[in-house]
Amino acid sequence: MSSKKERKALPGEALAVVEEFEPGEGTYSVGESIRASSLGIAEFDLKQRKVIVKSPVKKQILPLKGNTVEGVVETAQPSVANIRITSINGEPSNANFTAMLMVRQDMHQRRQRRSIIAKPGDLIRATVISTKNTIIQLSLENEKDGVLTSVCSICGGAVVKINDRVKCKECGYVEERALSPDFITV
Ligand SMILES: [Zn+2]
Repeated sequence: MSSKKERKALPGEALAVVEEFEPGEGTYSVGESIRASSLGIAEFDLKQRKVIVKSPVKKQILPLKGNTVEGVVETAQPSVANIRITSINGEPSNANFTAMLMVRQDMHQRRQRRSIIAKPGDLIRATVISTKNTIIQLSLENEKDGVLTSVCSICGGAVVKINDRVKCKECGYVEERALSPDFITV
């Protein structure tokens, strides 16, 4: 019997819980759950209790100004969020590029006027506005940019979109997010 099990995974999809599996390449953990950081094939190693997500393509290409990227929010402060890029123009990227989403300089933008744009563990889509000095800077300037998936920061439960906010299905907590029109509940 094979000790490995495979299935398709969507970005942000919950694959396992941390008590059962160790998060490997192509995954990230938020609260108790291990999630796919990009589209790919989730491989569960039942012997080593480890889950990875294999991307259909291995690309190390640097993002360029004007590109659309998606990534996992690692840290979020009122003025800046650090994003680990997981795809560039729709192509999975596993080079672990880190980018900075600047908030204050885009204050005129409706979605960035709010105090909280994203929380760690959110999957977010953004536009590259600069790669000067190899610092990848992002902004939410396109209509489809914003948070794509999120979980409750109190209990880790699934959240649903209510206007410009998200509400936890488990505990009812409501939080602000700069949501993408493509936001999905995972
Ligand atoms: Zn909750």
